[in-house]
Amino acid sequence: MNINCCQTHIEHALDMFVAKQNTFPILTEISDEEKLSTKCDYCDVVAIYLVANE
Ligand SMILES: [Zn+2]
Repeated sequence: MNINCCQTHIEHALDMFVAKQNTFPILTEISDEEKLSTKCDYCDVVAIYLVANE
């Protein structure tokens, strides 16, 4: 499970991840290059964080 999220939605993303996966995710900052093409899963803002299993 991967969630891209912006600063505003990071807490929401973490809640969703824990609720669905029953485990804590690894939180990584998206690189500047990827930021340009990655949008938040919950809004239209550029994503800053990737919430993922690995
Ligand atoms: Zn967002």
